[in-house]
Formats: sequence, C-alpha cells, structure tokens
Amino acid sequence: MAPNKKIAIGWFSFSCCEDSTIVFSELLNDHWKEWKELFDFRHVKVLKSNNIMDAFDIAFIEGAIASPEHVERIKDIRSRTKKLVAIGACAVTGLPAGQRNNFTKEQKERIAFLVERFGALPEVKTVAQVVQVDASVPGCPMDEKKFLEAVTALVTELRPELAQPSPAHA
Ligand code: SF4
Repeated sequence: MAPNKKIAIGWFSFSCCEDSTIVFSELLNDHWKEWKELFDFRHVKVLKSNNIMDAFDIAFIEGAIASPEHVERIKDIRSRTKKLVAIGACAVTGLPAGQRNNFTKEQKERIAFLVERFGALPEVKTVAQVVQVDASVPGCPMDEKKFLEAVTALVTELRPELAQPSPAHA
C-alpha cells in the first residue's frame, strides 16, 4: 500500500492522566502488524519523537478541555482532521478531570487562586462542548472493545476498500 493511501492519525492528550494512551499502546501488542499497514501514525507522541502536525483523517482526543490554550489547540486539531474521536470519560463527560466543576461555592472559592495562577477556564469542558465530535469512546480508561468498534467503523467509512478487501485480496 502506498504511504499516502494510509489513514493519517493523530493522538492528542489534554487534561488527563493519559491512561487511555497506555491502553492504546498496549493494544498495539495485538494490532501492530495490521495497523502499521493501515495507519500513518503522523502525530502520536507516545510512539515517536518526530511528529508531523499537518492534516489527519482521524484525530483521537484524550482528556478534558481546561484552559484557553486547550480551546485553541483543539480547534486547530479540528480544522486539520476529517474525523475527531473523544477518548475516555474525561473527554466525553469532563469527569473525573473536571471534578472542580462540581465543587461547592466554598470549595471553588478556596481553589480560585489556583485556577487563576494556572490560567485555567472557570469551568472544565468536554471535547464536544468546544468542537464537533464524530465518535465517542467511553470508559476510564477507555473501553478497548468500544475503541476497536469505533476504529473499525471509521476505517470502513473513510477507506471502505481497506476495511472490506475484495475477495481477490482477502
Ligand atoms: S478518563 Fe480516566 S483514564 Fe482517561 S484520562 Fe480521564 S481519569 Fe485518566
């Protein structure tokens, strides 16, 4: 398969613990052979240091959106990708990364200096509150089965010829 026919993917982490990144890298133990033929890993920092930030077919987003810098970055990623997938509970629901949203008034007052010091948003946001999301994978960390289902569905949509090889190539 020519390199430019591969599906260009990016994996990006925002406010989170990156456990879904670990799950993703563990999945490579079983899927590396298949995925290295299918995917162009253009921006996946856990796998390589020379990452390319241009255009993506699929961008996977882990973590919640907690600062104005995050908002700008996620909008930039959205503008570069055909499909965007929210990965894990923090990206999909905002929790647990955004638990300060549920603090009492008194608790919020006590952490206000930290919110200001780190230049954070007043309230932590889900990915879908900031940009359009095409698919979501729940779980903390992400549900492996649902991740694989989402990947298969996107590959089928973006490159049906890759997901469903003709009998001659099967
Ligand atoms: S959803 Fe869970 S595993 Fe994923 S970043 Fe948030 S806390 Fe970590």
